[in-house]
Amino acid sequence: MVMQTALYNSRENMIMKHVKSLFFTILIALLATGSIILMVFLVKGRSGEGSGGYRSPTYFAMDTTLEITIQGRDEKLARQDVEAALQLVRKVESYTSRFKKGSDVWLINEKAGSVPVKVHPETLEIVERSLELSQLTGGAFDITVTPIVELWGFYDQKYRVPTQQEIDTTRALVYYRNVMVDHTSGTVTLARPGVEIDLGGVAKGYATGAVCGLLRNRGVKSGLVNFGGAVGAIGFRSDEKQWAVGIKSPRGDPEDLLGELKVSNAYVSSSGDYERFFIKDGKRYCHIFDPATGRQPTEVMSVTVVGPDSMNADILSTALFVLGPQKGQELLSKFEGYEAVFVDSSGKVESSKGMSKYVVEMKERL
Ligand code: ADP
Ligand code: MG
Repeated sequence: MVMQTALYNSRENMIMKHVKSLFFTILIALLATGSIILMVFLVKGRSGEGSGGYRSPTYFAMDTTLEITIQGRDEKLARQDVEAALQLVRKVESYTSRFKKGSDVWLINEKAGSVPVKVHPETLEIVERSLELSQLTGGAFDITVTPIVELWGFYDQKYRVPTQQEIDTTRALVYYRNVMVDHTSGTVTLARPGVEIDLGGVAKGYATGAVCGLLRNRGVKSGLVNFGGAVGAIGFRSDEKQWAVGIKSPRGDPEDLLGELKVSNAYVSSSGDYERFFIKDGKRYCHIFDPATGRQPTEVMSVTVVGPDSMNADILSTALFVLGPQKGQELLSKFEGYEAVFVDSSGKVESSKGMSKYVVEMKERL
């Protein structure tokens, strides 16, 4: 539940201040965990998945939560499906984690400006798609934005607002063409020391698509994968209705919904300023950056994208967050089969033309 970071931090401080006994600290931590899980189910419950089938527990992976629902299948098989899916996710996580020593991404960053790094085909696919989409989004999506994310304190959670000079110096390292891929040899090279990549805006999308592929291959005809802000819908529900996916409201209580979509064989991805942020002097600073300015985009609070490919939907939700509704809609018109709903900074909700076919319910403004 990454969206709650700011809240948990302050709750943790409170606990540290007021609770002295170790026993009590553990008790509070357990209660807090319980409430996190309950909240997930509340949102999920309101997503109207229909009844029956197998619902996995909530797993933590890639810094967020993963839940899988499988319907129309023997429970024993469904449990095995989920187990296989989880293994796949853990594998992708172990390749793409920026923090894990020895992972593909860790090695790529470690060897910046020196030798090419041979990576797993999964990593190669994610990096190649990211670069392709960087070009198509005019650089709005850029996996080399990492030093900027770090400068603002999002990795060590020592949040700060940097000076313009710091931003300018750091921004000189950000440019997706600093990532060189050799498809044949399966290697990735960063142009110079200091350049760093982070696949946080795309790896979850990749994993969601891969999990849906794996489940389909195992014979699952009806399922829903909910991986943080990325959702994949396989087929229809067992009652033959489309899957209902709730879109979180960027403001209000965590279980408040902006609206509800109905989807089948499609992917839904959301990016927003409510997922991970800090507030300084009454101003909100989130974890998505405009590579062109080194600062947070200001035009929207959240974007949700629906489309036929999971990685594209995930990348586009981040890119459209950067571009805002107007430029975002222009870009979207070049992506056939993709639709989006934006909440702009005034709380107005704006949808692309074809979005209506997915909408069950949608607020017009917050
Ligand atoms: P979340 O991971 O919370 O669902 P996103 O999918 O939008 O949100 O990805 C945000 C993450 O991607 C950030 O934590 C950061 O690591 C990275 N990021 C931030 N801005 C960009 C950008 N413009 N392009 C690519 N990645 C970005
Ligand atoms: Mg994304």
